[in-house]
Amino acid sequence: RPHTMALAAEAKRIAADFEISDTDLNKINLEFVQQMKEGLAKNATNMSQIPTFVTAVPNGTEKGLYLAVDLGGTNFRVCSINLHGDTTFDIVQSKVAIPKELMVAKTAKELFSFLAKQIELFLREHHEDHFNAHIRRRQTISTPEGFRDEHIFRLGFTFSFPVHQIGINRGTLMRWTKGFDIADAVGQDVCKLLQDEIDILKLPVRVAALVNDTVGTLMARSYTSPGKTSTLLGAIFGTGTNGAYVERLDKITKPMDGEFDNSTGDMVVNTEWGSFDNSMKVLPSTIYDQILDQESVNPGIQMFEKRVSGMFLGEILRIVLVQTLKTPAVSLFSGLEIASTAPLHATGGVDSSILSEAEADSSADLSKLREYMKTSLGVSAATVEDALAVKEIAHAIAIRAARLSGIAIGAIILETGRLNPGASAVPAPKSTASIVEDVKSLNLAEAASATVSKLANTAGLAVNEDEIVDVGVDGSLVEFYPKFEEYMREALRTLDGIGAAGERRIRIGIAKDGSGVGAALIALVAAKME
Ligand code: ADP
Repeated sequence: RPHTMALAAEAKRIAADFEISDTDLNKINLEFVQQMKEGLAKNATNMSQIPTFVTAVPNGTEKGLYLAVDLGGTNFRVCSINLHGDTTFDIVQSKVAIPKELMVAKTAKELFSFLAKQIELFLREHHEDHFNAHIRRRQTISTPEGFRDEHIFRLGFTFSFPVHQIGINRGTLMRWTKGFDIADAVGQDVCKLLQDEIDILKLPVRVAALVNDTVGTLMARSYTSPGKTSTLLGAIFGTGTNGAYVERLDKITKPMDGEFDNSTGDMVVNTEWGSFDNSMKVLPSTIYDQILDQESVNPGIQMFEKRVSGMFLGEILRIVLVQTLKTPAVSLFSGLEIASTAPLHATGGVDSSILSEAEADSSADLSKLREYMKTSLGVSAATVEDALAVKEIAHAIAIRAARLSGIAIGAIILETGRLNPGASAVPAPKSTASIVEDVKSLNLAEAASATVSKLANTAGLAVNEDEIVDVGVDGSLVEFYPKFEEYMREALRTLDGIGAAGERRIRIGIAKDGSGVGAALIALVAAKME
């Protein structure tokens, strides 16, 4: 079967195009650290490094009942979160679709009064007691809102559009995205727009914090992570990719307009790392990446994101397949009828979940993947050879994304010096399963030392919580792509300054319900500063 040979060889060649050598991995990492520094010093063209005015992260002992709302796209979510103070919480949520006509309303008031109304409905359903407590207890009115202070909900407002933040609960809308278009909102403080409508309805609610979803992830993880160690970094690998981390205030040397409490000496910085290396100094770039960029709505922008996030990985695969179809000698999908309306032929038509399906199917005939290709690509009756080629290319695209993600995490850890002295090189405890693996692979020295540290740990000795660098992650890619974390870790071990010993000290955990709990925690931090 000469055809099969040609296809297999071509898939191999394409996969190799997506490889990042260990040398390049280190080079990209150094540049990442460099561009982080530039963003702290000035308004840079690559990573924005936006100060968030959040000056502390939680340690799990925080308590209280808070509200959080999230406006980020098609839905508006309202939730109340009860933080128990022991790293656990309860959450009550509601979700409503934003009516299309409000997304393009004439005035901001139309949208924000709708949002306030949803908050009222939520409170009437779940927290009616907060409305009438002051009447029932015959308390004198003690706040401008007419409620006793302890009955006023502090609200964290997650608003996932570009804002120029000028305080923990102040930020002006720069522009709408994602199908919203309400001209008179641009330039206005979105917290004030929401508060004004809340006040008209006389709700016991104060908008305490304006929240970026990545910062929410960091806060949520820091609250829920085991032990007292606070989290260094929150990272999202979903539709987009971004990270927020705890930076030393004295390293943020660019001008900041806004007031904040500087007693901790820290501030959370929203990196906007999706724009790392927009100037394309070091990022890998295949012909397929270039086609994707040219066909995108924002060529030259979000260049890191275009190689890493869920919105683009399926599209890279689609472009590779379309380009390969142009070489008949390779005979991909040979003799198959593919409709012109198939997802394979539609820009943005192929979801990244096909990468996970391809990775997960290790059967000899790839029957699951071939089945999935029917709907996700619109390719029926693909051969095993076709599916093998798709699997190999998808794998290469995903590994590159995971290695680049590892670089982002590694760069934050290196730039903040979290693995440096003070911190000795005591590894975090290994899982029993991984000790068994070490024994099986005859890595006896490793197994012995891990066993010793595990025993010591069980006895309450050794392995200091301080040695752990905690990272919170969220997003479908890291959650559902098989072994995404493992591939990130492999990259971390390869980085100079981290290595195997450093990588072992990095604890990565999923931050569940990040936007709700995170927003609540930021509202809590903000309320303390009132
Ligand atoms: P968001 O980032 O919008 O909050 P998600 O974290 O769910 O939401 O990410 C959605 C993105 O993840 C989409 O771009 C989708 O293509 C991608 N995705 C969804 N499921 C998977 C999967 N199983 N494997 C890889 N990517 C996935």
